[in-house]
Amino acid sequence: MKPFIYTRAGDPAEALLKGAAPGAKYLGGGTNLVDLLRETLERPDALVDVTGLDGDITAHDDGRLTIGASVRNTALAAHPAVRERFPLLSRAIVAGASAQIRNMATVGGNLLQRTRCAYFYDSDGSRCNKREPGQGCDALEGFNRMHAILGASPTCVATHPSDMCVALAALDAVVHLRHPDGERSLPLIDLHRLPKDRPEIDTQLRPGELITAVELPALAFATRSTYRKVRDRSSYAFALVSVAAALDLQDGLVKDVRLALGGVAHKPWRALKAEALLKGQPATEAAFLAAIDAELADARPLRHNAFKIDLARRTVIAVLNQLTETQP
Ligand SMILES: Cc1cc2nc3c(=O)[nH]c(=O)nc-3n(C[C@H](O)[C@H](O)[C@H](O)COP(=O)(O)OP(=O)(O)OC[C@H]3O[C@@H](n4cnc5c(N)ncnc54)[C@H](O)[C@@H]3O)c2cc1C
Repeated sequence: MKPFIYTRAGDPAEALLKGAAPGAKYLGGGTNLVDLLRETLERPDALVDVTGLDGDITAHDDGRLTIGASVRNTALAAHPAVRERFPLLSRAIVAGASAQIRNMATVGGNLLQRTRCAYFYDSDGSRCNKREPGQGCDALEGFNRMHAILGASPTCVATHPSDMCVALAALDAVVHLRHPDGERSLPLIDLHRLPKDRPEIDTQLRPGELITAVELPALAFATRSTYRKVRDRSSYAFALVSVAAALDLQDGLVKDVRLALGGVAHKPWRALKAEALLKGQPATEAAFLAAIDAELADARPLRHNAFKIDLARRTVIAVLNQLTETQP
């Protein structure tokens, strides 16, 4: 591991000042970044520890929730307002990693965790365009069971590993950012990128930009919501496919719906086509099937992951059936 300077930031201004230095990186709980340092996939000169910054969760009277970037994953999943207003978020977080890792991991770090593609980590033996642009991608013709079926490119078929981000995508979360040039906010679904021809760039963040908070707009019908993760082991495994969904029903019709998929793309995949098709339809399995089939029509499976198409289809239908039968 390359030596680096470690400092703690006492407030966002100090974090921005230190984070603007060439070769500096922010440090959350370190559960991803420290692994990347050990593997020499990241080689920063300085780490700026931001875990002392905003760690508050504010439940607003109008139903919104503001979550500081340093809030630990465990605290967010357990917060009464999250469990009551946004149960899918609580479930998504608890479906990830282990209790010990969730105790350390922060909201900001979870958003920016890097892919778990084995070829990305195998710097001695495999080619990876995300690790080294222009090198080639050994996952394309390799063992690509875990890889993307939607939105991939000939340069990269990696998936985004976060469970929490799938729920945030369904909830129209907004990410608040600070940079030496000023503040801005981005919808979470625009934060992460598809790989296209620049797979080494995961997000829209600028160098030195600090995540300060995530905001969830009020969504009354999110009380009827859930997250289901399908994986190889019942714990401590990344998603093959996951589904975050919230359903608003009136007289047996879908008044509104939120649907996002994990484990299928380089970013959390908001299923906007399926949502549009479902609105106004009867809450029946036939309607659910037609909607998810339209969403998955663009899926391009690799040699080992065609099963994900059917898995995504069946998981979405199971989740929507479950929510239809659930009393909010
Ligand atoms: C064995 C194992 C199993 C796991 N299983 C799962 C799983 O099933 N599902 C899942 O979703 N996750 C899983 N994870 C990943 C885990 O959720 C992430 O490692 C964690 O969320 C990262 O948060 P962190 O605070 O530790 O980030 P760090 O490792 O500290 O940082 C990650 C990145 O975020 C940047 N960063 C941190 N905070 C900020 C900020 N405020 N502003 C800007 N940049 C920032 C860092 O510079 C770094 O680039 C697993 C991890 C491990 C080690």
